[in-house]
Amino acid sequence: MLFRPKTKVCLVLLQVMEIIEQIREEFPALHQQVWGKPLIYLDNAATTQKHRMVLELQERMSARTNANIHRALHKLSADATDLYEAGREAVRSFLNAESREEIIFTSGATAALNLIASSLVRSHLSKGDKVLVGEAEHHSNIVPWQLACDQYGLSLEVLPVEESGEISLERLSGLLKADNRIRLLSVNHISNVLGIINPVAEIARIAHSKGVFVVIDGAQGVVHDRVSVREMDCDFYVFSGHKIYAPAGIGVLYGRRTLLESMPPYMGGGDMVDRVSFGRTTYAPLPLKFEAGTPNFVAAACLKPALEFATSVRDDVQVREHEKRIVSTMVQELQQIEGLKIHGLPRDLSLKVPIFSLSIEGVHPSDLAQMLDKMGIAVRSGFMCAEPLVSRFSEHGLLRVSFAPYNTFNECEIFINKLKLVTNMLK
Ligand code: PMP
Repeated sequence: MLFRPKTKVCLVLLQVMEIIEQIREEFPALHQQVWGKPLIYLDNAATTQKHRMVLELQERMSARTNANIHRALHKLSADATDLYEAGREAVRSFLNAESREEIIFTSGATAALNLIASSLVRSHLSKGDKVLVGEAEHHSNIVPWQLACDQYGLSLEVLPVEESGEISLERLSGLLKADNRIRLLSVNHISNVLGIINPVAEIARIAHSKGVFVVIDGAQGVVHDRVSVREMDCDFYVFSGHKIYAPAGIGVLYGRRTLLESMPPYMGGGDMVDRVSFGRTTYAPLPLKFEAGTPNFVAAACLKPALEFATSVRDDVQVREHEKRIVSTMVQELQQIEGLKIHGLPRDLSLKVPIFSLSIEGVHPSDLAQMLDKMGIAVRSGFMCAEPLVSRFSEHGLLRVSFAPYNTFNECEIFINKLKLVTNMLK
């Protein structure tokens, strides 16, 4: 009788292990050796491995359904166009956007942010206005705004994060109340350094109550949290395909339809036009108005299988539990290493996703990363393209470890043991 609950727990853990092993089978890249050791891939926040269905579609489209989209009447082009538009519908549904017109394909999150920083700023902000960005932003959500500020006479303000890495809503309200020249706020859903889910719906509500445009960088958010742009009520939401099991070279800009309609095109070229003459050009309706030139139609089509997989793991209770177990084990075990600090530790651990940025007193993060690599463990070190935030914590950068649903609990344990080992060697 006494042992029953334990047996039940063991059974559940076995079931979860089986599910994770099944997921791993779908990712060929995981089954290789690096430096003669089985690969333990823990650099998922930089890019994820690709699902077998994604690779198959990529191969099929490149080898067979290869024709430029939207431009021809022949069968191959029609088929490629259908696959491209099916990718768009998959994104619309995944983000719970109202219409396909609100889903613009770009080359990545960076390109999407640059599009907004150019087209929205040009048409909706004026000289002297201010743009507010979070302190924990990726360079992609800082530099485009700096470029826009230089070009259009705006200035950049920063919303600091608390010591825990969280955004304080009181601080945000205070900043917006104190300065009515702030016209746009751009923050991440989840930082690629801190791994904390930000209260984006609350943030949007506060900003909108002051008439401030809201841009959400969802590059990490789409992977670890459910997204509904309608519930979040943001004006823009962006992400990259390669971080969510799809190929590189495709990204998404969701924009509120009325805003996208009122913004000028970002780039000119084929496909984004209605009629062209030397005297005057008229533009195609949404979404094509913002899709100049031949897009990466293969990668766009691959978003469909990639997002189907992402949805299946996101909605699987056991995979979610597995992720929570990794988070709590990592936090517990890492905190036992002397001199180690986890940057991004909310009071409520349910807000933490399995992205960990660490510093260890007296140990250089790139030495750690290099030694771990020789053991087959792929992690990242440095500034993670978030230098303003990371340099607040350490002048040498940090070590980042980021998990995906295909990472096993055993890999998590191996990482912790090897980290302890190399830390001792380097200290
Ligand atoms: N924002 C965040 C939070 C990111 O993690 C990244 C990629 N590391 C980006 C933006 C930029 O994405 P990409 O390079 O794919 O455009």
